[in-house]
Parts: sequence; C-alpha cells; structure tokens
Amino acid sequence: MASFKLDIVTAEKVVFSEDVDMIVAPGLMGELGILPHHTPLMTTLLPGELRIRKGDDETVLAISGGFLEVRPTRVIVLADAAERADEIDVARAEAARQKAQDRLAHHPAAVDEEAAQAALARAVARLKIAEKVKRRRRNL
Ligand code: ATP
Repeated sequence: MASFKLDIVTAEKVVFSEDVDMIVAPGLMGELGILPHHTPLMTTLLPGELRIRKGDDETVLAISGGFLEVRPTRVIVLADAAERADEIDVARAEAARQKAQDRLAHHPAAVDEEAAQAALARAVARLKIAEKVKRRRRNL
C-alpha cells in the first residue's frame, strides 16, 4: 500500500515521525482525511483527535490546534501541543477543564474569555480521547 511521511512537531519536540498510510485530523470544517497523493494544502487544525493508520495499527493523539501542511511527499503537523492517547494525564485535563469552566462561569469580565474557551477546548479534547481509548481497550 502507498504511504507518506508524517511529521508531527511542537515547539518542544518531534512527537511523531514515521511513514503512515492515512491520517484523519481535526480540521476547521470537520474531520479531514489525508491519503497518499493528496492535493497540497495548508490548513488550520482545531483542538481534537488526530488518528494515524499504518497497516492494522491505529495511533490516536490529542492535538491542541495548529497547522497541517500537505506537501507532495510528506505531511507536516505543527501542533501547539500533542500527546499520544496513553500519555494523557486525565486528572490534569479534568483540573484544567474545571478551572476553565470556573473562570467562564464566575469571573467572565475578569479573564480573557477567549483564552479560557481555548483552555476548555484543549481539556475537553484530551478527556474525550483518553475516555474513547480506554473504552476501546475494555472492549478488546
Ligand atoms: P494545563 O493547564 O494542565 O497546563 P494546558 O491545556 O494549558 O493544560 P498546554 O499549554 O496545551 O496545557 O500544554 C503544555 C504542555 O503540557 C504540553 O507539552 C502538553 O503536551 C502537556 N499537557 C497538557 N495537558 C496535558 C495532559 N492532560 N496530559 C498530558 N500532557 C499534557
């Protein structure tokens, strides 16, 4: 099967760098599927789930938004943050969600609402992905 090189990088590190068969990324307009030989494009990513297929393996990562660029022979994801599903610290994400919700609910005028909404979206994406992967493991 045809494949392409996928690099997922953050300001901190290279999170993933392998040949893959397909990815599904959280695009602005919904899920964005990329197969080999996809038309070149550059787009924004929202906080959400990035799924990577390689043979029978699927790797799931939480992405905190960023950019995706499709080049002729490779795909590059520049992410604000990215964690593999099994690296997600659920208690930390739960605390971040609570804090963002409290800020939005109780101190709307005193905080940067946009920042609190963004923090909430990151936390919710992490929690959803951790829960989904846990459920999938239970069902195996
Ligand atoms: P927090 O308030 O808990 O720091 P945040 O959404 O503000 O959450 P980010 O700025 O997106 O955090 O990420 C900072 C660093 O911490 C990144 O390296 C990111 O991968 C990591 N990180 C953030 N939250 C989690 C989590 N729940 N589990 C694992 N790594 C996390």
